[in-house]
Amino acid sequence: MFCPKCGAQNQNDSAFCMGCGSRLAQVSSPTQTPAQPAYQQPFAVPPPTGQKNAVLAAILNFLFPGIGYWYWGYRKVLTIPPILLFVLVIVVEYVIWWFTFYAGIIPLLISVFFAYDLWVKTTGQPGWIEATR
Ligand SMILES: [Zn+2]
Repeated sequence: MFCPKCGAQNQNDSAFCMGCGSRLAQVSSPTQTPAQPAYQQPFAVPPPTGQKNAVLAAILNFLFPGIGYWYWGYRKVLTIPPILLFVLVIVVEYVIWWFTFYAGIIPLLISVFFAYDLWVKTTGQPGWIEATR
């Protein structure tokens, strides 16, 4: 390449002119765009701390039908507070247990029902019973 100032011939890769010492444009070298430093790239958004666990919600609803809804943030289930639903389920299960011979299976089914319903709700679907926040 030739120096734009003095016209002296220089090697294509030289940074400075051999004749006058002025800086030469590096036309021959490919333009390198420096990669964006990693610290300037947006961080992956971490999951918010204290995020509620859908599995725990379903397990809570299995062990204590209604409490899982309360844990997940529902304030009304079947138009009643989830805590009241829990009391109702306990009473109903007690009555069933008292008056039936096949006591074990029905409370189990009730627990499975509520656990599965809340599990469906945690995925964003309405589930089987009405619940509002
Ligand atoms: Zn020169």
